Amino acid sequence: RFHPEVTLADDIALAMLMTLKNSLAGLPYGGAKGAVRVDPKKLSARELEELSRGYARAIAPLIGDVVDIPAPDVGTNAQIMAWMTDEYSKIKGHNTPGVFTSKPPELWGNPVREYATGLGVAVTTREMAKRLWGEIEGKTVAVQGMGNVGRWTAYWIGKLGGRVVAVSDINGVAYKKDGLDTSLIAENKSLSGPSLVEMFVSKNGAEYIKNPDAIFSIDVDVLIPAAIENVIRGDNVGLVKARLVVEGANGPTTPEAERELYKRGVVVVPDILANAGGVVMSYLEWVENLQWYFWDEEETRKRLEAIMVNNVAKVYHRWQKEKEWTMRDAAIVTALERIYKAMKTRGWI
Ligand code: NAD
Repeated sequence: RFHPEVTLADDIALAMLMTLKNSLAGLPYGGAKGAVRVDPKKLSARELEELSRGYARAIAPLIGDVVDIPAPDVGTNAQIMAWMTDEYSKIKGHNTPGVFTSKPPELWGNPVREYATGLGVAVTTREMAKRLWGEIEGKTVAVQGMGNVGRWTAYWIGKLGGRVVAVSDINGVAYKKDGLDTSLIAENKSLSGPSLVEMFVSKNGAEYIKNPDAIFSIDVDVLIPAAIENVIRGDNVGLVKARLVVEGANGPTTPEAERELYKRGVVVVPDILANAGGVVMSYLEWVENLQWYFWDEEETRKRLEAIMVNNVAKVYHRWQKEKEWTMRDAAIVTALERIYKAMKTRGWI
């Protein structure tokens, strides 16, 4: 993470979250986080490259393709992973692509990474819709946030048969009762230029609602907060009409709001389960890099999907056994149980 206010305490908390997410997804990883307190937006491209290479040199003794494998977080991206991989490979004297993940496809990355988190959120939504209602076909969905996670979630929900009726960004909501044409998202990949919300209004006949928070009160089956944290709170939870909330973002529901939703019988699928597609993709890229053998895009997608389907089933079954638990309780306990069993088997406890 490259962020001007990041602290060691943040880093420790984020490392703990990674441990839980990796354990829950069944990956052969522990969890860690690394950060530099800097505002990357204030650096020139040259300075950013120097910082990235310097950081890779500094942590080189601590990382390795079977030791610790960093991936991007806030303020970092595929280009930064490319510089770091190059720097580490120079130190080793040979190409070592498995030491960083989420690299550009030209440097042994995988094209699925771009949409992996959104695809994972969409697959999670389909799996939960099947359990709650038999299928996702025709179920109405609202997605908050049209960044990397939100846009690809909306796109894949459309592909999987759901009806996305509303999407939002910081400037407002695009709403269309019959469903938005989410296939347009793939044709408008550029993050600059008109926003996707504007595009749905101008090209797809959607209604524009100026208040971005209107997304919460739209009458839909599924609400997917995929923007930022703490957006469903005690003061607005009463507006939510959806029966299923799938957390695309990290921490979008406050504990107070979750308790209220739980009381009303609304199912909240927790972030560590729903948005794990990115880290699962990191694992797949790492496996490819270690074996120097690469799957095509469709094969990669199938593998990612299979892992997500299995994760949802695992947490759902654990949750069903303990009816007074939330799904988040079931996810955290499932993750901790795997760690506990491994530690016990090793004789550590
Ligand atoms: P992003 O910066 O690409 O997109 C954020 C989007 O949220 C933008 O469209 C922005 O306009 C919108 N937004 C911000 N405030 C809003 C508001 N008040 N109302 C409506 N929209 C608002 O970020 P991202 O990478 O898509 O990440 C989104 C969330 O998902 C974050 O919580 C992140 O931690 C989490 N996450 C991301 C990934 C990943 O692979 N990118 C993986 C796991 C979790």
